[in-house]
Amino acid sequence: MYITDTFISTSKKYINQAKNILILAHKNPDGDAIGSGLALYHFFKDRNVNVTFVLPNEMPDFLSWMPDADKIVTYTSAKEKTLTTIKECDLIFMLDFNQYSRIDSIQEEVKNADVPKIMIDHHPNPFKMFTIHYTRTSSSSTAELMFEFFAKIEDEDCITKEMAVCLFVGIMTDTGCFNYNSSNPFTFRVIADLLAKEIDKSQIINKVYNNYSESRLRLLGLSINQKMKFLPEYHTAYIYLTKQELEQYNFEQGDTEGFVNYPLSIGGCVFSVIFLEKDGYTKCSFRSIGQFPANEMARLHFNGGGHLNAAGGEFRGAAINAIKKFEKLLPQYYEDNKHLATM
Ligand code: 5GP
Ligand code: MN
Repeated sequence: MYITDTFISTSKKYINQAKNILILAHKNPDGDAIGSGLALYHFFKDRNVNVTFVLPNEMPDFLSWMPDADKIVTYTSAKEKTLTTIKECDLIFMLDFNQYSRIDSIQEEVKNADVPKIMIDHHPNPFKMFTIHYTRTSSSSTAELMFEFFAKIEDEDCITKEMAVCLFVGIMTDTGCFNYNSSNPFTFRVIADLLAKEIDKSQIINKVYNNYSESRLRLLGLSINQKMKFLPEYHTAYIYLTKQELEQYNFEQGDTEGFVNYPLSIGGCVFSVIFLEKDGYTKCSFRSIGQFPANEMARLHFNGGGHLNAAGGEFRGAAINAIKKFEKLLPQYYEDNKHLATM
Protein backbone atom coordinates (compact mmCIF):
# COMPACT_ATOMS: atom_id res chain seq x y z
CA MET A 1 0.00 0.00 0.00
CA TYR A 2 1.47 3.34 -1.04
CA ILE A 3 -1.27 5.79 -0.06
CA THR A 4 -0.35 7.93 2.95
CA ASP A 5 -2.19 8.14 6.27
CA THR A 6 -2.22 11.93 5.94
CA PHE A 7 -4.04 11.78 2.61
CA ILE A 8 -6.57 9.36 4.09
CA SER A 9 -7.20 11.32 7.28
CA THR A 10 -7.57 14.62 5.40
CA SER A 11 -9.92 12.98 2.87
CA LYS A 12 -11.99 11.61 5.75
CA LYS A 13 -12.28 15.07 7.26
CA TYR A 14 -13.57 16.52 3.98
CA ILE A 15 -15.93 13.60 3.36
CA ASN A 16 -17.43 13.89 6.84
CA GLN A 17 -18.16 17.58 6.26
CA ALA A 18 -19.70 17.04 2.81
CA LYS A 19 -23.38 16.80 1.97
CA ASN A 20 -23.22 16.89 -1.83
CA ILE A 21 -20.27 15.14 -3.38
CA LEU A 22 -19.33 15.60 -7.02
CA ILE A 23 -17.14 13.06 -8.83
CA LEU A 24 -15.46 14.20 -12.04
CA ALA A 25 -13.42 12.33 -14.63
CA HIS A 26 -11.93 13.41 -17.95
CA LYS A 27 -13.58 13.97 -21.34
CA ASN A 28 -13.63 11.09 -23.84
CA PRO A 29 -13.71 8.88 -20.74
CA ASP A 30 -12.00 5.51 -20.87
CA GLY A 31 -12.50 2.40 -18.74
CA ASP A 32 -10.24 3.76 -16.02
CA ALA A 33 -12.02 7.11 -15.75
CA ILE A 34 -15.44 5.46 -15.69
CA GLY A 35 -14.41 2.50 -13.51
CA SER A 36 -12.74 4.71 -10.89
CA GLY A 37 -15.64 7.17 -10.85
CA LEU A 38 -18.34 4.49 -10.63
CA ALA A 39 -16.53 2.61 -7.85
CA LEU A 40 -16.43 5.81 -5.79
CA TYR A 41 -20.04 6.57 -6.72
CA HIS A 42 -21.07 3.15 -5.37
CA PHE A 43 -19.05 3.69 -2.19
CA PHE A 44 -20.93 6.90 -1.35
CA LYS A 45 -24.31 5.67 -2.56
CA ASP A 46 -24.02 2.57 -0.34
CA ARG A 47 -23.50 4.96 2.59
CA ASN A 48 -26.51 7.10 1.64
CA VAL A 49 -24.34 10.10 0.80
CA ASN A 50 -25.66 12.41 -1.90
CA VAL A 51 -23.29 11.91 -4.83
CA THR A 52 -23.25 12.72 -8.56
CA PHE A 53 -20.78 11.45 -11.13
CA VAL A 54 -20.33 13.99 -13.94
CA LEU A 55 -18.47 13.57 -17.23
CA PRO A 56 -17.82 16.35 -19.77
CA ASN A 57 -19.07 14.21 -22.68
CA GLU A 58 -20.65 10.87 -23.53
CA MET A 59 -19.11 7.57 -22.52
CA PRO A 60 -18.40 4.83 -25.06
CA ASP A 61 -21.18 2.35 -25.67
CA PHE A 62 -19.05 -0.68 -24.88
CA LEU A 63 -18.88 0.39 -21.22
CA SER A 64 -22.57 1.23 -20.82
CA TRP A 65 -23.21 -2.14 -19.07
CA MET A 66 -21.12 -1.13 -16.07
CA PRO A 67 -23.02 -1.01 -12.76
CA ASP A 68 -24.91 2.30 -12.51
CA ALA A 69 -23.37 3.68 -15.71
CA ASP A 70 -26.87 4.97 -16.51
CA LYS A 71 -26.67 7.25 -13.46
CA ILE A 72 -23.71 9.19 -14.89
CA VAL A 73 -24.59 12.78 -15.79
CA THR A 74 -22.91 14.13 -18.92
CA TYR A 75 -22.56 17.80 -19.71
CA THR A 76 -23.30 17.19 -23.39
CA SER A 77 -26.75 15.74 -22.67
CA ALA A 78 -27.66 17.49 -19.39
CA LYS A 79 -26.09 20.97 -19.35
CA GLU A 80 -28.37 22.54 -16.73
CA LYS A 81 -28.16 19.60 -14.35
CA THR A 82 -24.36 19.53 -14.67
CA LEU A 83 -24.01 23.23 -13.89
CA THR A 84 -26.42 23.04 -10.94
CA THR A 85 -24.55 20.03 -9.56
CA ILE A 86 -21.24 21.88 -9.74
CA LYS A 87 -22.79 24.94 -8.07
CA GLU A 88 -24.39 22.96 -5.26
CA CYS A 89 -21.60 20.51 -4.42
CA ASP A 90 -19.43 20.95 -1.34
CA LEU A 91 -16.66 18.48 -2.21
CA ILE A 92 -15.16 17.48 -5.55
CA PHE A 93 -13.25 14.32 -6.43
CA MET A 94 -11.20 14.65 -9.62
CA LEU A 95 -10.23 11.25 -10.95
CA ASP A 96 -7.86 10.14 -13.71
CA PHE A 97 -6.84 13.63 -14.89
CA ASN A 98 -4.58 16.39 -13.64
CA GLN A 99 -5.17 19.38 -15.93
CA TYR A 100 -8.29 21.53 -16.23
CA SER A 101 -8.21 21.25 -20.02
CA ARG A 102 -9.09 17.55 -19.59
CA ILE A 103 -12.60 18.49 -18.40
CA ASP A 104 -13.07 20.72 -21.40
CA SER A 105 -16.34 22.66 -21.40
CA ILE A 106 -16.90 22.55 -17.61
CA GLN A 107 -13.40 23.63 -16.58
CA GLU A 108 -14.32 27.26 -15.75
CA GLU A 109 -17.22 26.24 -13.52
CA VAL A 110 -15.07 23.68 -11.70
CA LYS A 111 -12.18 26.14 -11.37
CA ASN A 112 -14.54 28.66 -9.80
CA ALA A 113 -16.11 26.19 -7.35
CA ASP A 114 -14.81 27.25 -3.96
CA VAL A 115 -14.91 23.80 -2.33
CA PRO A 116 -12.27 21.25 -1.31
CA LYS A 117 -10.94 19.32 -4.32
CA ILE A 118 -9.43 15.88 -3.94
CA MET A 119 -7.42 14.62 -6.90
CA ILE A 120 -6.55 10.95 -7.35
CA ASP A 121 -4.57 10.28 -10.51
CA HIS A 122 -1.60 8.49 -12.06
CA HIS A 123 -0.49 10.96 -14.75
CA PRO A 124 2.83 12.81 -14.50
CA ASN A 125 3.18 16.57 -13.88
CA PRO A 126 -0.01 17.45 -11.98
CA PHE A 127 -1.24 20.99 -12.40
CA LYS A 128 -2.00 22.69 -9.03
CA MET A 129 -5.77 22.41 -9.14
CA PHE A 130 -6.55 20.51 -5.94
CA THR A 131 -6.74 20.92 -2.18
CA ILE A 132 -5.13 17.53 -1.62
CA HIS A 133 -3.95 14.93 -4.06
CA TYR A 134 -2.77 11.35 -4.31
CA THR A 135 -0.62 10.92 -7.40
CA ARG A 136 1.40 7.81 -8.08
CA THR A 137 2.76 7.62 -11.62
CA SER A 138 4.03 4.07 -11.10
CA SER A 139 0.43 2.91 -10.76
CA SER A 140 -1.19 0.95 -13.58
CA SER A 141 -4.30 3.07 -13.38
CA THR A 142 -6.39 5.37 -11.24
CA ALA A 143 -8.52 2.33 -10.38
CA GLU A 144 -5.52 0.77 -8.64
CA LEU A 145 -5.20 3.95 -6.54
CA MET A 146 -8.92 3.81 -5.76
CA PHE A 147 -8.42 0.29 -4.43
CA GLU A 148 -5.80 1.65 -2.02
CA PHE A 149 -8.14 4.50 -1.12
CA PHE A 150 -11.04 2.18 -0.22
CA ALA A 151 -8.82 -0.31 1.59
CA LYS A 152 -7.45 2.46 3.81
CA ILE A 153 -10.43 4.70 4.28
CA GLU A 154 -12.33 1.70 5.67
CA ASP A 155 -10.96 -1.74 4.87
CA GLU A 156 -11.00 -4.14 1.92
CA ASP A 157 -14.34 -5.53 3.03
CA CYS A 158 -15.98 -2.25 2.02
CA ILE A 159 -15.28 -3.09 -1.64
CA THR A 160 -18.50 -4.65 -2.94
CA LYS A 161 -18.73 -6.92 -5.96
CA GLU A 162 -20.03 -3.97 -8.05
CA MET A 163 -17.09 -1.81 -6.97
CA ALA A 164 -14.70 -4.69 -7.74
CA VAL A 165 -16.11 -4.98 -11.28
CA CYS A 166 -15.58 -1.24 -11.81
CA LEU A 167 -12.00 -1.32 -10.48
CA PHE A 168 -11.17 -4.42 -12.51
CA VAL A 169 -12.37 -2.72 -15.71
CA GLY A 170 -10.22 0.32 -14.88
CA ILE A 171 -7.04 -1.67 -14.38
CA MET A 172 -7.72 -4.03 -17.28
CA THR A 173 -8.39 -1.28 -19.83
CA ASP A 174 -5.52 1.00 -18.77
CA THR A 175 -3.05 -1.89 -19.09
CA GLY A 176 -4.35 -3.15 -22.45
CA CYS A 177 -5.59 -6.30 -20.73
CA PHE A 178 -2.46 -6.58 -18.55
CA ASN A 179 -0.07 -6.01 -21.45
CA TYR A 180 1.66 -2.82 -20.37
CA ASN A 181 1.99 -0.67 -17.21
CA SER A 182 1.47 -3.76 -15.11
CA SER A 183 4.89 -5.08 -14.12
CA ASN A 184 4.57 -4.08 -10.48
CA PRO A 185 3.53 -7.11 -8.40
CA PHE A 186 1.28 -4.79 -6.40
CA THR A 187 -1.05 -4.43 -9.42
CA PHE A 188 -1.58 -8.19 -9.45
CA ARG A 189 -2.13 -8.28 -5.69
CA VAL A 190 -4.92 -5.79 -6.22
CA ILE A 191 -6.28 -7.90 -9.07
CA ALA A 192 -6.14 -11.00 -6.85
CA ASP A 193 -8.15 -9.19 -4.18
CA LEU A 194 -10.69 -8.05 -6.76
CA LEU A 195 -11.08 -11.60 -8.10
CA ALA A 196 -11.67 -12.74 -4.53
CA LYS A 197 -14.88 -10.68 -4.66
CA GLU A 198 -16.17 -13.32 -7.07
CA ILE A 199 -16.39 -11.09 -10.10
CA ASP A 200 -16.80 -12.87 -13.43
CA LYS A 201 -13.50 -12.13 -15.18
CA SER A 202 -14.33 -13.90 -18.47
CA GLN A 203 -17.66 -12.15 -18.71
CA ILE A 204 -16.04 -8.75 -18.11
CA ILE A 205 -13.41 -9.41 -20.79
CA ASN A 206 -16.10 -10.46 -23.25
CA LYS A 207 -18.24 -7.42 -22.52
CA VAL A 208 -15.31 -5.04 -23.03
CA TYR A 209 -13.34 -6.65 -25.85
CA ASN A 210 -15.74 -8.95 -27.71
CA ASN A 211 -18.83 -6.85 -28.01
CA TYR A 212 -18.19 -4.51 -30.93
CA SER A 213 -20.21 -3.85 -34.05
CA GLU A 214 -19.33 -5.42 -37.40
CA SER A 215 -18.59 -1.97 -38.82
CA ARG A 216 -16.01 -1.37 -36.10
CA LEU A 217 -14.06 -4.48 -37.12
CA ARG A 218 -14.24 -3.43 -40.78
CA LEU A 219 -12.99 0.03 -39.83
CA LEU A 220 -10.03 -1.65 -38.15
CA GLY A 221 -9.42 -3.54 -41.41
CA LEU A 222 -9.49 -0.31 -43.41
CA SER A 223 -7.20 1.41 -40.91
CA ILE A 224 -4.50 -1.22 -41.15
CA ASN A 225 -4.88 -2.15 -44.78
CA GLN A 226 -5.18 1.25 -46.38
CA LYS A 227 -4.80 4.00 -43.84
CA MET A 228 -1.57 3.05 -42.10
CA LYS A 229 1.77 4.45 -43.11
CA PHE A 230 4.93 2.78 -41.83
CA LEU A 231 8.12 4.82 -41.78
CA PRO A 232 10.81 2.19 -41.02
CA GLU A 233 13.62 4.75 -41.00
CA TYR A 234 11.95 6.37 -37.99
CA HIS A 235 10.63 3.13 -36.45
CA THR A 236 7.26 4.87 -36.58
CA ALA A 237 3.84 4.19 -38.03
CA TYR A 238 0.67 6.23 -38.13
CA ILE A 239 -2.97 5.72 -39.04
CA TYR A 240 -5.29 8.51 -40.09
CA LEU A 241 -9.04 8.45 -40.52
CA THR A 242 -11.08 11.29 -41.97
CA LYS A 243 -14.47 12.36 -40.69
CA GLN A 244 -16.03 10.99 -43.86
CA GLU A 245 -14.45 7.56 -43.35
CA LEU A 246 -15.56 7.46 -39.73
CA GLU A 247 -19.11 8.31 -40.76
CA GLN A 248 -19.07 5.75 -43.56
CA TYR A 249 -18.26 3.05 -40.99
CA ASN A 250 -20.95 4.24 -38.54
CA PHE A 251 -18.38 5.40 -36.02
CA GLU A 252 -19.53 5.26 -32.40
CA GLN A 253 -17.56 6.70 -29.50
CA GLY A 254 -14.97 4.11 -28.45
CA ASP A 255 -14.87 2.25 -31.79
CA THR A 256 -11.25 3.21 -32.52
CA GLU A 257 -10.08 2.38 -28.98
CA GLY A 258 -6.92 0.29 -29.27
CA PHE A 259 -6.38 0.78 -33.03
CA VAL A 260 -3.21 2.76 -32.31
CA ASN A 261 -1.59 -0.27 -30.65
CA TYR A 262 -1.62 -2.49 -33.74
CA PRO A 263 1.30 -0.87 -35.64
CA LEU A 264 3.51 -1.53 -32.60
CA SER A 265 3.27 -5.23 -33.45
CA ILE A 266 5.51 -4.59 -36.49
CA GLY A 267 9.03 -5.63 -35.53
CA GLY A 268 11.15 -2.52 -34.93
CA CYS A 269 8.19 -0.13 -34.69
CA VAL A 270 8.45 1.78 -31.40
CA PHE A 271 6.19 4.77 -32.05
CA SER A 272 2.61 4.71 -33.28
CA VAL A 273 0.09 7.48 -33.76
CA ILE A 274 -3.55 7.62 -34.83
CA PHE A 275 -5.17 10.79 -36.18
CA LEU A 276 -8.96 10.88 -35.96
CA GLU A 277 -10.70 13.76 -37.67
CA LYS A 278 -13.57 15.30 -35.72
CA ASP A 279 -15.59 18.52 -36.14
CA GLY A 280 -12.97 21.22 -36.59
CA TYR A 281 -10.15 19.33 -34.93
CA THR A 282 -8.19 16.09 -35.09
CA LYS A 283 -7.82 13.87 -32.05
CA CYS A 284 -4.33 12.38 -31.84
CA SER A 285 -3.30 9.33 -29.81
CA PHE A 286 0.35 8.42 -29.32
CA ARG A 287 1.76 5.08 -28.17
CA SER A 288 5.36 3.94 -27.78
CA ILE A 289 7.44 1.00 -26.66
CA GLY A 290 10.24 1.13 -24.08
CA GLN A 291 11.74 4.51 -23.27
CA PHE A 292 10.75 6.24 -26.52
CA PRO A 293 8.63 9.20 -25.33
CA ALA A 294 5.09 9.35 -26.70
CA ASN A 295 4.04 12.09 -24.30
CA GLU A 296 6.65 14.68 -25.34
CA MET A 297 5.32 14.84 -28.89
CA ALA A 298 1.77 15.19 -27.49
CA ARG A 299 2.75 17.85 -24.99
CA LEU A 300 5.09 19.94 -27.14
CA HIS A 301 3.25 19.85 -30.45
CA PHE A 302 -0.34 18.63 -30.06
CA ASN A 303 -1.77 20.47 -27.02
CA GLY A 304 -1.84 17.33 -24.95
CA GLY A 305 0.13 15.09 -22.64
CA GLY A 306 -0.06 11.76 -20.88
CA HIS A 307 2.26 8.92 -19.94
CA LEU A 308 5.63 8.02 -21.46
CA ASN A 309 4.08 5.18 -23.50
CA ALA A 310 0.50 6.43 -23.94
CA ALA A 311 -0.43 10.01 -24.59
CA GLY A 312 -2.99 12.07 -26.44
CA GLY A 313 -3.63 15.51 -27.79
CA GLU A 314 -5.52 17.58 -30.32
CA PHE A 315 -4.71 19.39 -33.53
CA ARG A 316 -6.91 22.29 -34.58
CA GLY A 317 -7.69 21.41 -38.18
CA ALA A 318 -8.15 18.54 -40.58
CA ALA A 319 -6.37 15.17 -40.28
CA ILE A 320 -4.39 15.82 -43.45
CA ASN A 321 -2.83 18.92 -41.88
CA ALA A 322 -2.14 17.11 -38.61
CA ILE A 323 -0.22 14.50 -40.59
CA LYS A 324 1.72 17.20 -42.47
CA LYS A 325 2.76 18.71 -39.15
CA PHE A 326 3.65 15.29 -37.76
CA GLU A 327 5.73 14.26 -40.77
CA LYS A 328 7.60 17.55 -40.61
CA LEU A 329 8.37 17.14 -36.91
CA LEU A 330 9.24 13.46 -37.00
CA PRO A 331 12.83 13.49 -38.41
CA GLN A 332 14.08 15.86 -35.68
CA TYR A 333 11.96 14.20 -33.00
CA TYR A 334 13.35 10.83 -33.93
CA GLU A 335 16.91 12.20 -34.10
CA ASP A 336 16.55 13.63 -30.57
CA ASN A 337 15.16 10.38 -29.17
CA LYS A 338 16.68 7.63 -31.32
CA HIS A 339 18.95 6.51 -28.49
CA LEU A 340 15.73 5.52 -26.72
CA ALA A 341 14.26 3.65 -29.69
CA THR A 342 15.08 0.18 -28.45
CA MET A 343 12.55 -2.47 -27.59
P1 5GP B 1 -5.90 8.18 -25.51
O1 5GP B 1 -4.92 8.28 -26.61
O2 5GP B 1 -6.31 6.76 -25.27
O3 5GP B 1 -7.03 9.12 -25.63
O4 5GP B 1 -5.12 8.63 -24.21
C1 5GP B 1 -3.91 8.07 -23.82
C2 5GP B 1 -3.38 8.76 -22.61
O5 5GP B 1 -3.09 10.12 -22.89
C3 5GP B 1 -4.32 8.76 -21.44
O6 5GP B 1 -3.57 8.49 -20.27
C4 5GP B 1 -4.89 10.13 -21.40
O7 5GP B 1 -5.17 10.52 -20.10
C5 5GP B 1 -3.82 11.00 -22.07
N1 5GP B 1 -4.47 11.98 -22.94
C6 5GP B 1 -5.29 11.75 -23.98
N2 5GP B 1 -5.70 12.89 -24.57
C7 5GP B 1 -5.11 13.89 -23.87
C8 5GP B 1 -5.16 15.33 -23.96
O8 5GP B 1 -5.82 15.91 -24.84
N3 5GP B 1 -4.41 16.00 -23.05
C9 5GP B 1 -3.66 15.38 -22.08
N4 5GP B 1 -2.97 16.11 -21.21
N5 5GP B 1 -3.63 14.05 -21.96
C10 5GP B 1 -4.32 13.31 -22.84
MN1 MN C 1 -6.00 6.17 -16.38
